[in-house]
Amino acid sequence: MSFFGRNRAPRSKRSPTPTGTITRKDSIGPPSEPPSPGGAGAKPLYLSSPFADAALVKGNFKTIVMLPKYVDIMEWVAVNIFDFYTNLNEFYGVITECCTQNSCPTMSGGSALNYTWTNQGGKQVALSAPTYIDSVMSSIQNLLEDENVFPTKSNQVFHPSFPATVKHVYRQLLRVFAHLYYAHYHQILHLRSEPHFNSLFAHFLAFGREYELLEVRDIKGDSSGPVSVGLLWERWKDAGILEG
Ligand SMILES: [Zn+2]
Repeated sequence: MSFFGRNRAPRSKRSPTPTGTITRKDSIGPPSEPPSPGGAGAKPLYLSSPFADAALVKGNFKTIVMLPKYVDIMEWVAVNIFDFYTNLNEFYGVITECCTQNSCPTMSGGSALNYTWTNQGGKQVALSAPTYIDSVMSSIQNLLEDENVFPTKSNQVFHPSFPATVKHVYRQLLRVFAHLYYAHYHQILHLRSEPHFNSLFAHFLAFGREYELLEVRDIKGDSSGPVSVGLLWERWKDAGILEG
């Protein structure tokens, strides 16, 4: 397996392993309502036609997430995680100048949902979205470069904790998607990248559900703190793009 030979920007600083959990702080709302025609209460753009249905790929994603014949499942999950990370990192790289301490002082993933970070001492801390996302992406990059976690030699085996590790990575990547949809979808539209971004996210969801890397509650949240993309997931299920 040599899928790590592709271009990865080196990161010099190690971040604490992300162990963030969801907390909801009613007193601290999102930094600003995401721009949406019609003002407060209007349907967000990512749920509106034609943007919600824009895609590079037509049909159900099940076919492209199935384990290919003769491929080890660990290898398959590893290479897909690498690709999701790489693609999402590139999207974030484009959006990054719009995601600042001022525009996004909290890691919002919905109108009443701010993700917090668990630091190395186990304490929940509220980080700005750019700090949170940079910590997530740096820590995933470090994991991908760790031969003990993502082995690249044919004689190496995956550690028994690999499934738990990738589940954790998946949850953190979902949060980055949730923030980009919630707070920066208009910028993705401005770049006319919504078909690509939607297809990446639908692929990510389909893969995560197929290999049980994603919990439904992480995708949807709950009534007190719904995740912004929960309704998009429902919509794509109804449209037959994703499995139920
Ligand atoms: Zn942001």
